[in-house]
Amino acid sequence: MNKQILMILKACEFAAEKHRNQRRKDPARTPYINHPLAVARVLAEEGGVKDPEILAAAILHDTLEDTQTTLKELQKAFGRRIASMVAEVTDDKTLPKQVRKQRQIDHGPRKSKGAALIKVADKICNLRDLKKSPPKHWTVERKGQYVEWAREVVNALPIPRHRIHRVFEREYASTSALNSPAASSAMLKRCTSSRRGISNG
Ligand code: NDP
Ligand code: ZN
Repeated sequence: MNKQILMILKACEFAAEKHRNQRRKDPARTPYINHPLAVARVLAEEGGVKDPEILAAAILHDTLEDTQTTLKELQKAFGRRIASMVAEVTDDKTLPKQVRKQRQIDHGPRKSKGAALIKVADKICNLRDLKKSPPKHWTVERKGQYVEWAREVVNALPIPRHRIHRVFEREYASTSALNSPAASSAMLKRCTSSRRGISNG
C-alpha cells in the first residue's frame, strides 16, 4: 500500500479517536470529525492541493486546540512538519477570546503555505456550516460578525492568488448576504413585530 495513503488513513483514525466525544455546535450535534474531514476534502478537491502532509495536517487541524493531544504526540506519530502545521493553526487557549481572534489576523502574514491553506479551507467549511447548520441560538448579527472576521483572517494570509482563496471569496459573497442590510432589517422587523405581539406568519 502507498505510504502516503496509509499516513492519511492514520490521520483519519487518530483524529476520529481524539474527537470521539465531541460534537459541532449545530442543533443536530453533528459528530466533530465531519468537520476536519470536510476541510481536507475541500483542500484536495476544490483547492487542488496534492501534498499529502498538508492533507493529513488538515485532518488533524483541531486536535491540539480542542482535545488533549500534545505537540510531542503529533510529532511522534506524524513527524515534525505535520505537527508544526497543526501547531500553526492552533489558538493559544490561555488568552482571552478577543485577543485570540485578533491574533489570527495579526499572525496571518507569517504563516507557512501549508498552514495558510488549512486556515482558508477551515473558514470555507465554517461559512458553509453557518449557512446549512449554524450553531444553536446564533443571531443574524453574530453570524455576520463571524463572516467578516473570517474574511479578515483569510485576507491576512500570504496566499492571495491561490485557487483556494477564490473558493473562499465565492463562499464569502454568498454568505455575507446573512449580514446584508436587507437581512438585518428583516430580522429587526420580526423582533419589533413579536414585541408588539404581531404574528410573523
Ligand atoms: P466561536 O469561536 O464561539 O464559534 C465559532 C467556531 O465554532 C468556529 O470557528 C468553529 O470552530 C466552531 N463551530 C462549531 N460548530 C460550528 C457550526 N455549526 N458552524 C460554524 N462554526 C462552528 O464564535 P465567535 O467568537 O467567532 O463569534 C462570532 C462573532 O460573534 C464574533 O465576531 C464575536 O465578536 C461575536 N460574539 C457575539 C456574542 C453574542 O452573544 N452576541 C458572544 C460572543 C461573540 P473551528 O474553526 O475550530 O472549526
Ligand atoms: Zn476547524
